[in-house]
Amino acid sequence: MKCKPQRVLLLGANGMGMTSLAYYLHEAGIVVEAFDDHFTEPCRTRMGEMGILIHSDSTTNANPDYVVRSSAVPESSDEVRSWVNKGIPVYRRGDFLSRLLSEKKVLAVVGSHGKTSTTGMLAWAFKQVGFPCSHLIGGRFFQDQFNPGQYVRSPWVLIEVDESDGSIDGFSPEITLALNCDWDHVDQYQETESFLNTLSGLFLRTKSHFICPQGSNIAGALTKLHHSIETSHFQAPEEPSLFEDSNRMAVKALGNALGLVFDGLDFSTFPGMDRRQSLLFESEDRAIIEDYAHHPSEIRAFLGKSRLIREDHFMRVVFQPHRFTRTKAMVENFAEELSAADELHLLPTYGAFEKFDPAGSTEVLLGHLPPRLRNHAKVLESIDQLSRLVGVEKLDEGQPDQILFVGAGNIDRWAHSFACLVKAEGNRNRAFSGYLESRLSPDCILRSNEAMAPKTTMGVGGRARWYAEPSHVEDLRAIVEACLLFGLPRTMIGRGSNLIIPDDGYEGLVLRLKGSYWGEVTVLSDQALIVGAGARLKEICRIASFNGLMGFEFFEGIPGSLGGALRMNAGAMGWETYDLVEWVTFLMPDGTIRKIERSSLNTGYRYCKEAFEGVALRAKLKAEGRSDHRVIRKMIEKLAKRRRDSQPREASSGCIFKNPENESAGRLIDQLGLKGERVGGAMVSEIHANFIVNQENASAEDVISLIRAVRDRVRDSNGTLLEPEIGVLGKEWRDYLS
Ligand code: FAD
Repeated sequence: MKCKPQRVLLLGANGMGMTSLAYYLHEAGIVVEAFDDHFTEPCRTRMGEMGILIHSDSTTNANPDYVVRSSAVPESSDEVRSWVNKGIPVYRRGDFLSRLLSEKKVLAVVGSHGKTSTTGMLAWAFKQVGFPCSHLIGGRFFQDQFNPGQYVRSPWVLIEVDESDGSIDGFSPEITLALNCDWDHVDQYQETESFLNTLSGLFLRTKSHFICPQGSNIAGALTKLHHSIETSHFQAPEEPSLFEDSNRMAVKALGNALGLVFDGLDFSTFPGMDRRQSLLFESEDRAIIEDYAHHPSEIRAFLGKSRLIREDHFMRVVFQPHRFTRTKAMVENFAEELSAADELHLLPTYGAFEKFDPAGSTEVLLGHLPPRLRNHAKVLESIDQLSRLVGVEKLDEGQPDQILFVGAGNIDRWAHSFACLVKAEGNRNRAFSGYLESRLSPDCILRSNEAMAPKTTMGVGGRARWYAEPSHVEDLRAIVEACLLFGLPRTMIGRGSNLIIPDDGYEGLVLRLKGSYWGEVTVLSDQALIVGAGARLKEICRIASFNGLMGFEFFEGIPGSLGGALRMNAGAMGWETYDLVEWVTFLMPDGTIRKIERSSLNTGYRYCKEAFEGVALRAKLKAEGRSDHRVIRKMIEKLAKRRRDSQPREASSGCIFKNPENESAGRLIDQLGLKGERVGGAMVSEIHANFIVNQENASAEDVISLIRAVRDRVRDSNGTLLEPEIGVLGKEWRDYLS
């Protein structure tokens, strides 16, 4: 690094190592911009509250002098390449850190297992004895009791050094604490020996003191090297289940090396690290625990410890293999260690950023298990399935059980959602809200039993079991993921101007993109607008005309939002929404965000496939050209007058039926003299025959019956089968029409 950074952009900022770096840099007075397309709460809110600039869609507006990428963001990614092309230096996290800390006295914690717990315990111990030291840890403290990254004015910095990406070679610590050395990160290290060589290199670069376990392979490797620094050993218990004792010994050894005495500390008050032996639920009959173990040695240690603590409990393990490369290389060891379970269930391998490889899949692991486990093990598809297999209600008078969720992927969500179900004694509503409680930002709205009729222009229908207004894309994603986990159906509503709600409401969750984040309308210099899916079409039209941008005039009289218009390809007077679109970003059903160019979108008359499958988030809309805003205003007034003269004022959902090819649905209905036809409070408009209006407190059933009657009459009279343009929330028209 040529000079001290002033402004740093972190790519993949929600990753654990990156979060701690964000806090550290921010507290050190550096402007931090944080990008992640998978931010989660409470990380996002916490960073935002600290003053870190959050980017979750793109980094177009960022202005860094250095970019740091997490290992989850590859060098070949568009984000990285765009910064390289702009001439801004891009570093891997480890490389950046080693340069940033080159003048500090670094206390490095390395090893295959236990780094996060040990580094966290050290940071906690330093606080207890008042030793001033910054820290950067690769995990969160339990319940976020301390920040994983902290900057203090001191020459000392404690860091957890990541061995997974080769960046370890850049560090020259003052003191190194090496915990253990096992074969892992098989893409980086061919065998244990290669990692031992890396640790030997670190030993040779260590300036004053190297600490490792007595009698370990590390100690053995170092004896062959000549380096005049102090070396000390700690006594790590041989029994794997005593790994916590081993971590404590290591912490004390590092304390000693610094001349600190930790003997008086009550280690039982150390809050522990998130996802490390986290007890999520405990009763007389059952314990639910989650752990990050993702290597055979870690599984042996964790299962062994769990067996010791709850000897009399039946041990059910839910395991998610982490990375295809590791699973493939160590499949037999995984099978052997998992055999300690009384019952086993599996999740599909979590690839992290690796491509699918069948040789590292769960099915291969299944094949290596002993028949006792293999014959009953299930590859789980849903929490419901797990609940059926192990039960969520109070257990029968039998043997108590412990359910261990084991793995480093997204199995934590499974663990937490299952624990919420058990806590709520199987009540899914309580479990769902309990699960989302800590995952949504404070401004996000989540309500149950919400009346939906007032959220539509027709004003009919019942309640939704759940209703949510996410504050931003991370809330949206958390809700979408929770719906998937709990098997809860979900759907979108915009301004409800093209929808009717059934009288029996919706037995799922309705999402609405409301609020300033979703309502953005930004005018760009290239005669274009960036518009959020929650923006009103009327507002887009107003801003475009004010800025002299043509082509948006037809939006004026359509009472919807951009999201609804993108889904419906709304149009009027010869224009359609997709005539204006340059690209759209969508939250896809698998949780990824995709930006799709106009040329790749599948659109048609009142249809867009991608908006049907995903959630439209934002779009770039291009003007047809420039004109004087008074000329545009005149055009808008002309279109508005035409609308006023031809459309009813009463509550409606706009045109009910799509126009058949070369025909007008309204004309066909009018020809049959159906204007004024009624069912209950619903009536075919006297002004426009393709509108049904809510004349007198209509019910959804009134509107649907009238639609059915009109459609039947048109079909019987001239054989044309009209297809509804409006939707029924959560239902298909084939549920109502023959
Ligand atoms: P909603 O009605 O709330 O939803 C429509 C569909 O879009 C639903 O399937 C919903 O699930 C989906 N949706 C909503 N947001 C998103 C999102 N972010 N991502 C993915 N899917 C989403 N329409 C025309 O085309 N031309 C007209 O001239 C016209 N005139 C109208 C006049 C009146 C008086 C009325 C009441 C309606 C009129 N409409 C017209 C119908 C309606 O206004 C449009 O279809 C509008 O685009 C719907 O937008 P909305 O936000 O209200 O969507």
